[in-house]
Amino acid sequence: MKAAVVGKDHNVEIQDKKLRPLEHGEALLQMECCGVCHTDLHVKNGDFGDKTGVILGHEGVGVVKEVGPGVTSLKVGDRASVAWFFQGCGHCEYCISGNETLCRSVKNAGYTVDGGMAEECIVTADYAVKVPDGLDSAAASSVTCAGVTTYKAIKVSNIKAGKWIAIYGLGGLGNLALQYAKNVFNAKVIAIDVNDEQLKLAQEMGADMVINPAKEDAAKLIQEKVGGAHAAVVTAVAKAAFNSAVDAVRAGARIVAVGLPPEAMSLDIPRLVLDGIEVVGSLVGTREDLAEAFQFAAEGKVVPKVAKRPIEDINDIFHEMEQGKIKGRMVVDFSL
Ligand SMILES: [Zn+2]
Ligand SMILES: [Zn+2]
Repeated sequence: MKAAVVGKDHNVEIQDKKLRPLEHGEALLQMECCGVCHTDLHVKNGDFGDKTGVILGHEGVGVVKEVGPGVTSLKVGDRASVAWFFQGCGHCEYCISGNETLCRSVKNAGYTVDGGMAEECIVTADYAVKVPDGLDSAAASSVTCAGVTTYKAIKVSNIKAGKWIAIYGLGGLGNLALQYAKNVFNAKVIAIDVNDEQLKLAQEMGADMVINPAKEDAAKLIQEKVGGAHAAVVTAVAKAAFNSAVDAVRAGARIVAVGLPPEAMSLDIPRLVLDGIEVVGSLVGTREDLAEAFQFAAEGKVVPKVAKRPIEDINDIFHEMEQGKIKGRMVVDFSL
């Protein structure tokens, strides 16, 4: 079967691979599609260590072709996902307290174990979340990573219906954050991005207020117009956005960090203490979060923007990604 394998010199090779037989608790998926993520770009470039030989992909959706001994959570014909949170240890304090994504022995698809950017993929059945009927596989692949990450972040923000949430960065992640905030949590959304095109799209998707911080002081404007946001989610990969978010919220608000700029943020300690501001990080989502994120997408409340490409395009896709040319999500479709 064809697989996108991390090669030498930061290249991805399409190799003909043969998978090992299934072990206890495992299932074999016939992959339908797999989204291409910025994280894959980091993995293949060796930014997280040398991963030569690993099959990429953590936004996969496939149909169960075979189950190994002891599998009861999946059956042949089910559709299931291959997510970044591939498997936890199942018994540590994080795994048993609803925080399994923080498991210190976590396995990540397309990184520590072979991922879903291949015609076939072996998953740990109990960790592969089922995709509900009525949700297109390409859209589901986007929910598997960007969707669940933003859904979880909005959940962690504690935003209530009718209250104001500021979303910094309206790219692939932010656009889904906007849809979850608006259509699932019923919040009022302020979209902040330096790109007017992204803001226009945000407005079309129902943003209640849009601000370009290259032209206006976002925090000042939010304080003036609504008295400060009740929560903020930062998907932007810029320190300035994190600092602005702290200034844009009202007392008691929570700021959720999702974007990963390689810097430290400045925090005004009196502001944190006196105004009771919380700054928290949020990383992907648990199996339960993913099941919920899938369900809302299946109900049509969230519609990811995807473009389907053949696996042979993989190096071109990474090239386009590096040049910032990609709008929406590129999804490798194994039927192309
Ligand atoms: Zn991803
Ligand atoms: Zn664990």
